[in-house]
Amino acid sequence: MQTNFSLAQLVDPHVAESEKILRKCVHCGFCTATCPTYVTLGNELDSPRGRIYLIKDMLENGRPADKEIVTHIDRCLSCLACMTTCPSGVNYMHLVDHARAHIQETYKRPLLDRLTRAVLAFVLPYPNRFRTALKLAGLGRPFIGLFEKLPVLKPVAAMLKLAPSSIPLASSMAKPGTHVGQGAKRGRVAILTGCAQSVLDPAINDTTISLLTRLGVEVVVPEGEGCCGALVHHMGREAAALASARQNVDAWTRAVERGGLDAIIITASGCGTTIKDYGFMLRLDPAYAEKAARVSALARDVTEYLAALDLPEPVRKPGTIVAYHSACSMQHGQKITRQPKELLAKAGFVVREPREGHLCCGSAGTYNILQPEISAKLRDRKVKNIEATGAEIVATGNIGCITQIASAARLPVVHTIKLLDWAYGGPRPEGVSDSGLIAAE
Ligand code: SF4
Ligand code: SF4
Repeated sequence: MQTNFSLAQLVDPHVAESEKILRKCVHCGFCTATCPTYVTLGNELDSPRGRIYLIKDMLENGRPADKEIVTHIDRCLSCLACMTTCPSGVNYMHLVDHARAHIQETYKRPLLDRLTRAVLAFVLPYPNRFRTALKLAGLGRPFIGLFEKLPVLKPVAAMLKLAPSSIPLASSMAKPGTHVGQGAKRGRVAILTGCAQSVLDPAINDTTISLLTRLGVEVVVPEGEGCCGALVHHMGREAAALASARQNVDAWTRAVERGGLDAIIITASGCGTTIKDYGFMLRLDPAYAEKAARVSALARDVTEYLAALDLPEPVRKPGTIVAYHSACSMQHGQKITRQPKELLAKAGFVVREPREGHLCCGSAGTYNILQPEISAKLRDRKVKNIEATGAEIVATGNIGCITQIASAARLPVVHTIKLLDWAYGGPRPEGVSDSGLIAAE
């Protein structure tokens, strides 16, 4: 694509980066076919190619964002299916991240939208605040029907609907410290305890620590780590996202210096995509660029790490039929497609893949709160495809997808690691029936 930026504009490294990305796009439109918002809404401006044109026009003319571009960029899930499809290697992720930061800087949203976003950014990345908010959600639940009738309060209704009615106890394992591996030492890793996941389902990280230590891997929970920054990053709040990234880079760099790390284990693929991008996000910060690149290179989804270990035979072989839902951040963001399915199959599960596996479930960070209608359409489409597999359980590797799919599916939805842990001698995951288990040979 031909671009017309002035030399003065290209002095800005963010503009220069976006210009490089824009020039790679050849307008072929292949990406439209796999874009969930184009598939749902049928509007070219809600396709990757349409958004690329809108962003180009805004940046080239040095214009502040307007209502039209905000509408279409807000509808983008950042699912990155377009990056998987694009034959020209257009880095839509970095382009839309730049556009979102530009919108945040130059556009004044309506008051309620600003308030909703400010509350989400203030609450979600902080486990204590999030836990308190979930407790308070019970008070608002009786008013969901009323809130749904008022368009401006639909995000509040969506938040209340997603809030679980009971909150698990906080994990005792995910406190700073070291969990020593059993038997011969096979590695040393740090684990990201994260934010929303640690409140909604602390058992995911507990299970990961338990399985890894049983396999001989030492697991460090570093002092000082926090939210990866993805939630605010996707809202265009760059300063907050970079502050989170720096905090984690510092925490993990200290862990590397105190005993070395083979990997930083991430159990929510949405976080993994962002942490693997820290090197890019902090490239312009001389104090952090190198450290951030090192951290990104160490980041591994837990299934990616397990697939590289030589796993023993499972303790039990569940014959359970599992529908594997590949989160967008897993398959498109991190290009991890094979490992989770192979691990589940090796552990004795019968793995089925739902149709339209490339399409987002509509969770996408805060998307199911900020765009509840499109999100619900995508969720229902996803659940229909999952249920058509005839599976008994749904497995996935991202807490956002778990919450989203579980809000409509009749099947238990669990993190992949819980099924693997079960097969390798751990407890049966909550909500999963014992049927289908057969003893290992
Ligand atoms: S990130 Fe997803 S929703 Fe956004 S343009 Fe690409 S395919 Fe469409
Ligand atoms: S597939 Fe790639 S090159 Fe083609 S229009 Fe989409 S982003 Fe541009």
